[in-house]
Amino acid sequence: MSSPRVAVVGGGISGLAAAYRLRTLLGPAAEIVLIEGSRRLGGALRTVELGGVALDVGAEAFLLRRLEAHALVEELGLGGQLTHPTPVAPTVRAGGRTLPLPTRTVLGLPGAAADVAGLLSAQGVARLAAEPTVPLRWDPGQDAAVGMLLRERAGDELVDRLVDPLLGGVYAGRADALGLRATLPAVAAALDQGAGSLLAAADAVLPSRQPAGGGRPTPVFGTLRGGLSVLVDALVAAGAVHPRLGLPVRALARTPHGWRLELGSHRLGPGRPERLDADAVVLAVPAPALRRLLADPLPGASAAAGRVEVASCAVVGLALPLSAAQALPAASGVLVASSESLSVKAFTFSGRKWAHARSEQMLLVRASLGRHGEARVLHRDDAELLEAVRADLAALTGITARPVDSVVARWGGGLPQYAPGHLDAVAALERHVAASAGLALAGAILHGVGLPACIATADAAARRIAGYLTGLNAPAAARGGTMGS
Ligand SMILES: Cc1cc2nc3c(=O)[nH]c(=O)nc-3n(C[C@H](O)[C@H](O)[C@H](O)COP(=O)(O)OP(=O)(O)OC[C@H]3O[C@@H](n4cnc5c(N)ncnc54)[C@H](O)[C@@H]3O)c2cc1C
Repeated sequence: MSSPRVAVVGGGISGLAAAYRLRTLLGPAAEIVLIEGSRRLGGALRTVELGGVALDVGAEAFLLRRLEAHALVEELGLGGQLTHPTPVAPTVRAGGRTLPLPTRTVLGLPGAAADVAGLLSAQGVARLAAEPTVPLRWDPGQDAAVGMLLRERAGDELVDRLVDPLLGGVYAGRADALGLRATLPAVAAALDQGAGSLLAAADAVLPSRQPAGGGRPTPVFGTLRGGLSVLVDALVAAGAVHPRLGLPVRALARTPHGWRLELGSHRLGPGRPERLDADAVVLAVPAPALRRLLADPLPGASAAAGRVEVASCAVVGLALPLSAAQALPAASGVLVASSESLSVKAFTFSGRKWAHARSEQMLLVRASLGRHGEARVLHRDDAELLEAVRADLAALTGITARPVDSVVARWGGGLPQYAPGHLDAVAALERHVAASAGLALAGAILHGVGLPACIATADAAARRIAGYLTGLNAPAAARGGTMGS
């Protein structure tokens, strides 16, 4: 076929990585149109300059244990800009105390009660230590809410003081509503394979205990000096992507030769929308948009996407006078349990955690707020949100200095909620799409919200589309270019 046209919908990391991978697979002649509903690329990746320093106010780092993000960074020639957190450790605020975050856990679930003993009361430790003696009813393949399962078997303290704050950090969700199989898949698999308790399952998947003095541990996270917008810019350049911004795709339909997209917000009025015909489409949009776009061509897939709820959150960046650093605890940040009656769910002491966020003049601090079902916390204007963050910082550290500069970034519907049964919803979604030629999905709704998982879905989507297009013998879709009718 002559040069194909592929429409990639959504300009977050998933859409950008898919567009880039399509370019490497299809070559320079392919027309790759990236359509983004908002006026900026990056989705949940956004770097701002605060106090003269680059600060990420969306995602700030990627996991290195999975290879996809690191490999992409290297492939794009950005390896020299890769950096890791300083060795300063994080803390957690729970039960009215701020303590070091236990290190040997799977998202807060330890292999032994002793590994989290400092954080729990004596009764809490005893209850957790007895968890392996509670008979476990677990059918291979089943799912359960993480919090519910743990509370039933080991009491409330571990959930409230550690698991919930950690899951809140990753998913902006609550342990009682998130599913074990999607959020702790290795633990669910260990239970499938016969682990007799949650502690035993966690112990089976955790790395073996390091002997003392075993050298500096391998870094778990990486990011880019200059912020993750560097990755966004590199993907646009290397993918030779010509994005169309401010154009939400409002409808998708099959045509005899491919797909037709309608572009432009309904809010712009009843005028006839711009149309774009494409040989193939990658949808890399959050669950609500996916549900709407698939409603007409694939109602079953749309219904499956509709089963995934989303949570909103916000990040507030503060540039404080450097004198504030004297009062800052010797930690990279603090996770906050929801029982602490504070607005924030975490502070990152960015100037401590990242060498590249250190400045001679300012101390950068980043606060995160918002959990699923707690929209109330975010129902404040920016000035009120800033004051709430300052009050919480004062309560936790004693720092009352007025910020020299600040930024509020809101992430409406920013994170999909992996509820029990999430993998079934995704399997149904993918089954419907797999039967639909020239259509592929990517994004955080599918197989993990972290950047490596999103990049993996983008790669798979691009390969599926490239395979389809190169295997196609039919002539290119009959199209007259963008039809601005
Ligand atoms: C505050 C925050 C902090 C995070 N921190 C980390 C972290 O440190 N490490 C980590 O690995 N992960 C982190 N995550 C998760 C990770 O950033 C996201 O899961 C990931 O970036 C999602 O990428 P995506 O491309 O799938 O979706 P998004 O980034 O949501 O991008 C989707 C894009 O689609 C566009 N869109 C929506 N509807 C339409 C439409 N109809 N037409 C056209 N365009 C449309 C949107 O405007 C958006 O730009 C964080 C997430 C948030 C919100």
